[in-house]
Amino acid sequence: MIELQSKVPTGPIELKWDKHRFEMKLVNPANKRKHTILMVGSGLGGASAAASLSELGYNVKCFCFQDSPRRAHSIAAQGGINAAKNYRNDGDSIYRLFYDTVKGGDFRSREANVYRLAQISVEIIDQCVAQGVPFAREYGGLLANRSFGGAQVSRTFYARGQTGQQLLLGAYQQMEKEIARGGVTMYPRTEMLDLIVIDGRARGIVTRDMVTGKISSHLGDAVVLGTGGYGNVFYLSTNAKGSNATAIWRAYKRGAAFANPCFTQIHPTCIPVSGDYQSKLTLMSESLRNDGRVWVPKQAGDRRPPSQIADGERDYYLERKYPSFGNLAPRDIASRAAKEVCDEGRGVGESGLGVYLDFADAISRLGMQTIRERYGNLFEMYQRITDENPYEAPMRIYPAVHYTMGGLWVDYNLMSTIPGLHVIGEANFSDHGANRLGASALMQGLADGYFVLPATIGDYLASSKLPKVDTDHPDCRRVEADVAAYTRRLLDIRGKRTVDSFHRELGKIMWDYCGMARNSTGLKKALSLIPGLRAEFWRNVNVPGSDAELNQALEKAGRVADFLELGELICLDALHREESCGGHFREEFQTDEGEALRDDEHFAYVAAWEYKGPDRTPELHKESLEFEYVHLAQRSYK
Ligand SMILES: Cc1cc2nc3c(=O)[nH]c(=O)nc-3n(C[C@H](O)[C@H](O)[C@H](O)COP(=O)(O)OP(=O)(O)OC[C@H]3O[C@@H](n4cnc5c(N)ncnc54)[C@H](O)[C@@H]3O)c2cc1C
Repeated sequence: MIELQSKVPTGPIELKWDKHRFEMKLVNPANKRKHTILMVGSGLGGASAAASLSELGYNVKCFCFQDSPRRAHSIAAQGGINAAKNYRNDGDSIYRLFYDTVKGGDFRSREANVYRLAQISVEIIDQCVAQGVPFAREYGGLLANRSFGGAQVSRTFYARGQTGQQLLLGAYQQMEKEIARGGVTMYPRTEMLDLIVIDGRARGIVTRDMVTGKISSHLGDAVVLGTGGYGNVFYLSTNAKGSNATAIWRAYKRGAAFANPCFTQIHPTCIPVSGDYQSKLTLMSESLRNDGRVWVPKQAGDRRPPSQIADGERDYYLERKYPSFGNLAPRDIASRAAKEVCDEGRGVGESGLGVYLDFADAISRLGMQTIRERYGNLFEMYQRITDENPYEAPMRIYPAVHYTMGGLWVDYNLMSTIPGLHVIGEANFSDHGANRLGASALMQGLADGYFVLPATIGDYLASSKLPKVDTDHPDCRRVEADVAAYTRRLLDIRGKRTVDSFHRELGKIMWDYCGMARNSTGLKKALSLIPGLRAEFWRNVNVPGSDAELNQALEKAGRVADFLELGELICLDALHREESCGGHFREEFQTDEGEALRDDEHFAYVAAWEYKGPDRTPELHKESLEFEYVHLAQRSYK
């Protein structure tokens, strides 16, 4: 039976983290090398943690499924990373970043974690600058900032439209240094397929070598998952094609609670879907909304090209509805507003599922060169994909699945409900409540990896009895056998449908019934469809090839099998939460103006689900959320 203990330290919010760091137990420097930590994932969360833990003296084994840590999905992050540096002197502060994040998440996050994140944000930038991350600078040399949604200050640090790439290269260099020193052993092309829990503690993982197919166990004193988000459960998303839920899902099935699975972020500015055979969606960074203006024709059914629609015939609906935040309204709000105008028949492009993001005003005000400097690579990407020139005609954009706020439940120390299993980055449910603000994922991943985990994991190691275990341990052998049997089972089906066809069908169910808007009837329908699809998968999927070779169909099959289970949990969570908050918009619960209507009396909690076995309904546990510093209020960006 799971018990949710958030372990939030007592005392004033601004002192909690310092006090906690003082009170936590330390591992003596000479003893650190006696501990092995298994780090699964080498994105911004994983690479920063692996490098920092190794620099502290721990032995780190780091795993990723790509051929190089540099290919982690974090490399794709475009727009920037938030930090409360107040370089612009525009009224920013740690408190304001904390406030904006709690409000942006629609009051469904844990205050103490968010405050710590805002405090650490300042240190992240210094750390990255010291590593040589080439953030954009002002003429005088100071680091430049731009604005992101849900904030009225400019606190986003960026490296053109390639911030994730530059940050990841920084973290990767640190990790490479440690690999060369011998502190980190890197296992690329190695997929974690299960968690080994011995005497109630996470002590290891079972992996498959994706080139040879060899299944092995790796043991250590603690396991850390930095395995990213699960947005690909929707099939079409802005995530890298390989991003998946397998590591966290299999840990869930071994006892880690899964928190707020239905909190999904649908990003307002992506290139619209263009056809049935598309397998990937492309983000157009939120940073573009600093200068781009969003509009649709005032008249439904107006199919004229944008250049022929005069200013007075356009509806700049975000500026009209949210004058204080305008085009930089938070993502959940901007996405719903786009859906609303398209539902009214005012959408643009062939499908009618699109709105304009127009740079004409910015180009005439700032000049082509400035726009090129700020967003050149994004404009080029847009042009290559759509064959339209955004310097000359407005971009067409539409919301798409982008980020998952849900994930494995963690306490203040980033430890899951399985002692020893820590979860960082997008894989945990952490700090963003029901809606993440733009540029805050990179901040959270690096806060977790560079600063929080290296401090808290020591406390776990110093205060736990961790007898030596080896791979002959029966629990280890049992999990290895489970993995081998599961793999065999997938290969033995030899059915008629491709893995992708199941994934696509699941994605459509998820998007239609649990996407930007949800209601009880639709969610029940999804809950009736998914088990049938899952049963068919196990009867009729075709996984060609063998398990003793590179076999991408086999890799995908395992991931899709997990998505087919996770999708059901997402819908169950969405159905039980009879309120709207952030990205979770239940059509039955909205204000007169169509905004999300929370029910704080009944739902001001984190929903953490406990696995109860196959074909059994998971058990809901609640961590109630107290708001001492930011008072619960209806969000307003007007
Ligand atoms: C297109 C795009 C642009 C974005 N832009 C921004 C932005 O500008 N600012 C911002 O703050 N956020 C942005 N985000 C969000 C942000 O990029 C992610 O939330 C963040 O990078 C996730 O980092 P991570 O370390 O948690 O996971 P990832 O970077 O996804 O890394 C996951 C790691 O886990 C490994 N892994 C996963 N499963 C297994 C397994 N079973 N076995 C072994 N290894 C495994 C992978 O190999 C990889 O190394 C963007 C997201 C997208 C999709």
